Amino acid sequence: MDRVRVLCRVRPTTAEEQTRGERVVAIQGAQRLRLQNAAEYVGEHEASWAFDAAYDTDASQAQVYESIQPITQDVLRGFHATVFAYGQTGAGKTHSMFGPPDCSLDGPDAGVVPRLLKDLFAGLTAGDEVRVSCLELYDDLRDLLNEEHRPLKLRENRKDGSVVVDGAVDAVVKDVPATLALLERALVRRVVASHEMNADSSRSHFVASFRVTRPSINASAIMRLVDLAGSERVAKTKATGGTLNEAKRINSSLSALGNVIAALTSSTATHVPYRDSKLTRLLQSSLGGNAKTALLVCVSASSLHAEETVSTLRFGVRAK
Ligand code: ADP
Ligand code: MG
Repeated sequence: MDRVRVLCRVRPTTAEEQTRGERVVAIQGAQRLRLQNAAEYVGEHEASWAFDAAYDTDASQAQVYESIQPITQDVLRGFHATVFAYGQTGAGKTHSMFGPPDCSLDGPDAGVVPRLLKDLFAGLTAGDEVRVSCLELYDDLRDLLNEEHRPLKLRENRKDGSVVVDGAVDAVVKDVPATLALLERALVRRVVASHEMNADSSRSHFVASFRVTRPSINASAIMRLVDLAGSERVAKTKATGGTLNEAKRINSSLSALGNVIAALTSSTATHVPYRDSKLTRLLQSSLGGNAKTALLVCVSASSLHAEETVSTLRFGVRAK
């Protein structure tokens, strides 16, 4: 499997999108997205982008998971891995990663994360250990497994230059139900800020880390599952004051992430700019080297969001 795989998913249009706009995103074959009438919406001619896989509005959670499943085997063999969901608020990131709102992480509509965990645990043998931490990166870094939800500091380990999160809960989990229960609690705690586009939208990065230690085969790996904050640009959200600063910070951490992934996939780049944001510093240990990365970019099919869709698709192809 490639070190970085980029997948794209188009979510079903809402009733509002059907009344106020039209469908402009079409899927061609299994890998390509085309934006129709692009010139009308974004001042460009018809444009198309190719990914490792492209999923249309009718794709099931199980189908999307198929492209990401190989990661569990990599992690079990000792490779670090990170799975990202990227896209504007409302594009389907949380749905794809976890499932529909209020859905049990154990149900048929469960997303990528519970499916990965089931396959991961199924591959473990006696003596293996899994530790989980759940962090939220908002104004600052917070521990979603700690009732106090206090801010945490990133610290550089002098010995090997690795980045550690001081004081974060790192819980040993024994099985899938216990892990899903922890995740469900963390998701409930995730800070949400009201937002003009979607009052329930999450404006924080959610990072769940699983440290898998396997003494039997002398392997150890970190798997990170990341539901990124909405990628929409400032103008679109008509943000002001605090929300404006928040949007700027989110955009700068996402562009730092884009630069890091682009450097990792480039054959010529010699410097990977991890230090440019808290997000990339936090993720550094599970990116790079032989690590596996899956980036799921989520878009709406509607003309109402064509501009954001183009910027999301560009982010995705740049990562390849
Ligand atoms: P995001 O996390 O990117 O802000 P959500 O995942 O919350 O977006 O999706 C917004 C809404 O659209 C939610 O109600 C979600 O359940 C719904 N939705 C997103 N993707 C799909 C999909 N593939 N199928 C059905 N509903 C979806
Ligand atoms: Mg979300």
